[in-house]
Amino acid sequence: MRKSVIAGNWKMYKNVGDSVTTAVALKPLVANANHCEVVIAPVFTALKSVADRLEGSNIRVSAQNCATERAEGAFTGEVATFMLRDAGCSHVIVGHSERRQYFLETDQIVSQKTQAGLAAGLMVIVCVGETLEQRDQGKALDVVKGQIVGSLSGLTASDLDRIIIAYEPVWAIGTGRTATPEQAQEMHAFIRRVFAEGHSPAAAEALRILYGGSVKPDNIAGLMKQTDIDGALVGGASLSAESFAQIVNYK
Ligand code: PEP
Repeated sequence: MRKSVIAGNWKMYKNVGDSVTTAVALKPLVANANHCEVVIAPVFTALKSVADRLEGSNIRVSAQNCATERAEGAFTGEVATFMLRDAGCSHVIVGHSERRQYFLETDQIVSQKTQAGLAAGLMVIVCVGETLEQRDQGKALDVVKGQIVGSLSGLTASDLDRIIIAYEPVWAIGTGRTATPEQAQEMHAFIRRVFAEGHSPAAAEALRILYGGSVKPDNIAGLMKQTDIDGALVGGASLSAESFAQIVNYK
């Protein structure tokens, strides 16, 4: 039985004070959410303060990105995964479509970041998803398969239980346009098959696959009814403690 994960990606919103205020407000609202793991991903500068305030709670803290390099060194502007651990993170998101699109991250870079996250003992949320153009051209499955294979190359069997995949169709992120539960289910089932081929049926069965793209309190239940949807990566609707809590407590 896979335990679902509901993760909030705060993107480049909220200063330290606002991040702490939202996190503290969220704590009692999700305190009884035993059916899923709850994760929030504030900006780098707020990670430590938020993690400190959430200590002892059931909310885990994730970074939104990390360096490809594992050790400290002369890499101006980068943050290594061991530093994220040190700041109180248990998770890191890699390969978000905004990073692929605006910062030209390739599958190879995402793969290096995945490996760096694993090396530091983090859970790694690896994002994949096709653009509208790719979907309209009938290429969605091929694109996502390429991203899965490319972003997860070189993983060993012992790494697999610390990988979470987030399927986020680019056309559904921040657009208010959600994939239908059936569209999402089709892709999630496909991702599980790709993972089984690349690793093992048992690892694929245990893999958590999150859906992301305009998830809101009023569409989460329909998505979560699908067999292969094991949670959500939520952007806009995670910025308010109340709406994120409604998503977490969708049952
Ligand atoms: C995201 O940023 O991962 C995301 C899914 O955003 P939104 O929920 O706003 O579409």
